[in-house]
Amino acid sequence: MMRQYELVERVQRYKPDVNEALLNKAYVYAMQKHGHQKRASGDPFFSHPLEVAAILTEMRMDEATIAVALLHDTIEDTTATRQEIDELFGPDIGRLVEGLTKLSKLDLVSKKAEQAENLRKLLLAISEDVRVLLVKLADRLHNMRTLDHMRSDKRVRIAEETMEIYAPLAGRMGMQDMREELEELAFRTINPEAHRTVTERLKDVFERNRNVIAEIERALLTLFEKYGIEVQVKSRQKKPWSVFRKMETKALSFEQLSDIFGFRVIVGTIEGCYLALGAIHTTWSMVPGRFKDYISTPKQNDYRSIHTTIVGPSRQRVELQIRTRDMDEVAEYGVAAHSLYKDSAARATGPSSDTNAYAWLRRTIEQLSEGDSPEDFLENTKLELFHDQVFCFTPKGMLIALPRGATPIDFAYAVHTDIGDTCVGAKVNGRIMPLMTELKNGDEVDIIRSKAQVPPAAWESVVVTGKARSAIRRATKNAIRKQYSGLGTRILERAFERAGKAFSKEKLKPVLHRLARKDVEDVLAAVGRGELASGDVVKAVFPDYKDERITQTAPRQREEGWYNLRNAAGMLFQIPGRASKKKGAAEGGEKGEGAVPIRGVRGDLPVRFAPEGAVPGDRIVGIMQPGSGITIYPIQSPSLTAFDDQPERWIDVRWDIDETTRERFPARISVTAINAPGSLAEIAQVVAANDANIHTLSMVRTAPDFTEMAIDLEVWDLKHLNRLLSQLKDNAIVSEAKRVNG
Ligand code: MN
Repeated sequence: MMRQYELVERVQRYKPDVNEALLNKAYVYAMQKHGHQKRASGDPFFSHPLEVAAILTEMRMDEATIAVALLHDTIEDTTATRQEIDELFGPDIGRLVEGLTKLSKLDLVSKKAEQAENLRKLLLAISEDVRVLLVKLADRLHNMRTLDHMRSDKRVRIAEETMEIYAPLAGRMGMQDMREELEELAFRTINPEAHRTVTERLKDVFERNRNVIAEIERALLTLFEKYGIEVQVKSRQKKPWSVFRKMETKALSFEQLSDIFGFRVIVGTIEGCYLALGAIHTTWSMVPGRFKDYISTPKQNDYRSIHTTIVGPSRQRVELQIRTRDMDEVAEYGVAAHSLYKDSAARATGPSSDTNAYAWLRRTIEQLSEGDSPEDFLENTKLELFHDQVFCFTPKGMLIALPRGATPIDFAYAVHTDIGDTCVGAKVNGRIMPLMTELKNGDEVDIIRSKAQVPPAAWESVVVTGKARSAIRRATKNAIRKQYSGLGTRILERAFERAGKAFSKEKLKPVLHRLARKDVEDVLAAVGRGELASGDVVKAVFPDYKDERITQTAPRQREEGWYNLRNAAGMLFQIPGRASKKKGAAEGGEKGEGAVPIRGVRGDLPVRFAPEGAVPGDRIVGIMQPGSGITIYPIQSPSLTAFDDQPERWIDVRWDIDETTRERFPARISVTAINAPGSLAEIAQVVAANDANIHTLSMVRTAPDFTEMAIDLEVWDLKHLNRLLSQLKDNAIVSEAKRVNG
């Protein structure tokens, strides 16, 4: 295991003014926190963060990044907390370590091919800082290097994830060495047989051509000496994975692959690169179509190099990459190399294409090379791609992508419509949170469900996803329909009872066509809405039945078998059901299994008030109104005489409210007052002083001296209304104050 001083020395080699104290503190803290924890290999756990730090020193990262590497598993795996790390190392390092903790959830995600792209996006979105991503990649690299100690099923899953997500990401960040090594390690695990075969063939080819390679290298060096170009030549061999992929994608045999041998020519300057190219092309013939100049036109990930393939001294094809040292650094370490990259002035900027999803990285790199202090830039670089999306997890680790601003309700509907419809609450990262909470990247969302739930219509304005919105709309419609059909059932039960017949839904089936309804539910809802008279249904089922038209007096209120109706304001009414045979339930004081709670939804209420209102304390009656369910009238209302000859429209209703019900109810009053300046204001004053609300006010009649006005009020109950009326009467400007239709 690397010693503390060795780590510091490594960083010192490329950053002489390193903050030693920070590195030492992070080393000791992480070592103590991980204590006796062991890795699967049996090594002390601390060897892992230390190796991750070492990988990052190879990439010459600043000491903050190295410290983060040392600390990266502390929050996740030890007693360390964000707060403690903030206190000891400052909030910047705390933030980075927390970013890695969030990313560690990715390792729990079950492997699903369609999730790969989402995962890549998530990685970018929650990394926020390039350094988090760099540490994550180094972390993954070390885990891949030590993969052999894992259980085999786990090993394959991790390798596949590496191949699908981390290796391409490293490539897109310009870190070719990292990408190649990740691919190699993953290839070996995923397809050991293919890996072995290709590796052996490559080794064989290399052995057989050992002399040729040396010969080419010598020839190149001689050539450059002759032209006076100072170069360094490195031979390189294709990696088994890239050979294998080429064989697969291009359907080539091993022998057909031309570019198994390659050389990298490192030149001091850009001019030198073109000089070297000229020297090579005048000495050996080039293979047409294989020349690429990524110096004048860099790749999106900022890769710059000249590529060419020649027919070499022994007639084999040889691939050459010509580049400067800086370019070589970038090619190897990608974004990480930019902390050392100073060649911005000499750089040819090619046309950049914003269509590439990874153009951000290019912009990042451009800014990086222009900044005064690359370290500062690294620190402040936010990865802004995908900022219009958030990525959250189910408790089982499934990843859900949502638009920004999404709530747990959107999340629930994204998982499944049933989950959305039955959602009553949510735990976000283990804590119960309001359903309106805006979700953040990496949140784990656990939906609390209840079968009894009906999604409130108000959710429609809270959610941001179309799926949630349309599902809520559908559920709301169904709920309204259910309320109407429940109400219809009660009404029919009563109508059949009056006719001395027993009601059952079965009896409706044979008469659907006569009622011109498509199914039983449709009949019930139509009766509930008042579109279909209950008497007509009775007559349809029993054509011989003679309606004796018993004139109905004021409905009697019974104590048993009442059903609940609730309107939008939360007011609860009850209507009677069948004279209860299920006495037990009713006597038990329960709402009963047949209870029909009617909840108002978006104005589409089964229950509404007559224009003159009704308040608790009034005896009330309901009248079925075609298309709108029940209208509530005070029983003394003269308007009721209009329904005297339609007894089937009368419904018993009663209040079901108590002291805890803090709702106001509508009532209309008529006030006659003296025409004097300020009299209207004075009346308003009396109403307000009595804790009532004026809803509307209109002039009924004006005489020179007096004005009669109708005022629609909202009051608590009858007592409240009467008190208000007497206060008004006591006022000198008021000659009369009375309830309308009261
Ligand atoms: Mn780790």
